[in-house]
Amino acid sequence: MSDTVQQFFAVKARIAAAEQEAGREAGAVTLVAVSKTFDAADIEPVIEAGQRVFGENRVQEAQGKWPGLKEACPDIELHLIGPLQSNKAREAVALFDVIETVDRDKIAAELAKEIVRQGRAPKLYVQVNTGSEPQKAGIEPRDAIAFVTRCRDVHRIEIEGLMCIPPADENPGPHFALLEKLAREAGVEKLSMGMSGDYETAIAFGATSVRVGSAIFGSR
Ligand SMILES: *Cc1c(COP(=O)(O)O)cnc(C)c1O
Repeated sequence: MSDTVQQFFAVKARIAAAEQEAGREAGAVTLVAVSKTFDAADIEPVIEAGQRVFGENRVQEAQGKWPGLKEACPDIELHLIGPLQSNKAREAVALFDVIETVDRDKIAAELAKEIVRQGRAPKLYVQVNTGSEPQKAGIEPRDAIAFVTRCRDVHRIEIEGLMCIPPADENPGPHFALLEKLAREAGVEKLSMGMSGDYETAIAFGATSVRVGSAIFGSR
């Protein structure tokens, strides 16, 4: 078994243990295996080991490797977890099954247009900049609930979840708690939070999916 596949199984086991520890149902948390910077040859063994949900942060990079992988394995679910430019909305709607980084009206409007045009509706999450970091994508926490409402009522797209990336140098717990509270208030079910360094903490705070890259594929 390759290191990558061993690490994949180790992460699966730690997720299961964290679910149990947190009193969550077995299987409550979806692993999104983040394969950015890795190529199809690195990803295939993880698909063979049973993983079906993957995350990529760049539309163009994903276009280079995922159409072929999806053709070989049609039940793959591909998540866009990186910032989306409005001129890439067409490609994003065509390729991704979940877009986790909706964070402004312009993107919401472009996605709505493409969803109608293509007759293909990826699930959509709103990214929240829980640490209000100027360099980071995501809507400000104080604007998040109104934005989810606008997505529904103005743009006519359904938002199923919220996503956050806590500041690298802070305890992530309060950020996960804030995201959970916003989701509850906005009436949104899915919570995408937790990465290689903090996914067990995120599970304790209610994550429904965790985005784990380097703990599976190694350092980038
Ligand atoms: C790269 C990335 C991850 C995975 O990070 P790791 O620390 O390697 O697990 C998760 N979420 C987002 C948005 C990313 O860009």
